[in-house]
Amino acid sequence: MDADSLGSTRLFVLRRVLAQRCPQCGAGRLFRGYARLQDACASCGLVFRREQGAQTGSMYVTAAVGELFAVLVIGLLWWLFDWSTLRFVLTAVPIVAVFCALFLPVSQALWVGVEYVTDLESREPWARLRR
Ligand SMILES: [Zn+2]
Repeated sequence: MDADSLGSTRLFVLRRVLAQRCPQCGAGRLFRGYARLQDACASCGLVFRREQGAQTGSMYVTAAVGELFAVLVIGLLWWLFDWSTLRFVLTAVPIVAVFCALFLPVSQALWVGVEYVTDLESREPWARLRR
């Protein structure tokens, strides 16, 4: 796989997972409910949850992005308002918590894509991208 092909494959898979579709076939849904990943694709059979803890990476992504978002929110609030510490906390914590809850399925989908692209690049026999 050359660099151009690899880049376009990564973008192709990224678009699919951000649309919450199977990275391999694009037909099956990734989720069966809010932030509840399917075990496998109903269309092509690609297993999304291969082992216990396979989604740990998405938790790290959510934590890292959530912390960056928290810094942004707190910095913006601090810059805009002259509030007490308690008011900052009571305002920023719900905003960051809602953001993290909304970002969790995005993070899970991204992680499915990362694992799938890794499988493609490793030429795993079960990874056969269908365009
Ligand atoms: Zn599929």
